[in-house]
Amino acid sequence: MPEALKQLINIISLLPWIWEKSANRLAFFLLNSNENYIENFASSLKNIKTKVANCKNCHSLVDSSKELCNICSNSSRNKNQITIVEEYLDLITIEQVGIFDWVYHILWWAISPINWVFIWDLNFESLFERLFNLDENIEIILATNPNIEWEATATYIKEEIKKRWLNKRVKITRISRWISAGYIEYADNISIINSIKGRVEF
Ligand SMILES: [Zn+2]
Repeated sequence: MPEALKQLINIISLLPWIWEKSANRLAFFLLNSNENYIENFASSLKNIKTKVANCKNCHSLVDSSKELCNICSNSSRNKNQITIVEEYLDLITIEQVGIFDWVYHILWWAISPINWVFIWDLNFESLFERLFNLDENIEIILATNPNIEWEATATYIKEEIKKRWLNKRVKITRISRWISAGYIEYADNISIINSIKGRVEF
């Protein structure tokens, strides 16, 4: 097999959810694609590292030319209601429902010492800073996935809010757990709406 093709197969097989056979198929698909497609593909890959940045406020993803995401810079959004999610795709899934006017905070991880993810790896400090800068009547909505890591993460947030004397101003709620797909990212709109409507104080 030519070295370049072998290299392509190797690099594709490092991607998650790719089996050996699918790595081969994808490599041959690319080999047989036209020049234009390959160029677009290569430049999209490069751009992902240079043209995507994090929102300075909520850590969502933005064009690197912007400081704030569309949600944080939208003045009609309720800044006192912050939904906390683990990943950007969770935010996208909730936003697709199209009926919420709150803002978000993305942690990007959940606490998981066995996977070497510790408190300092998550965007907690910026969250507490945001809470400090808001007035009364703040609600944070924990849009948590049903696993042990999120249990630890939710408990940590609750304890820190108390420790930092924010509990008088901040109400913590948590979405109800009956999202049938288990994870927010895979949930349908109705499940999202119901689990958010059915949120309870935590
Ligand atoms: Zn933002």
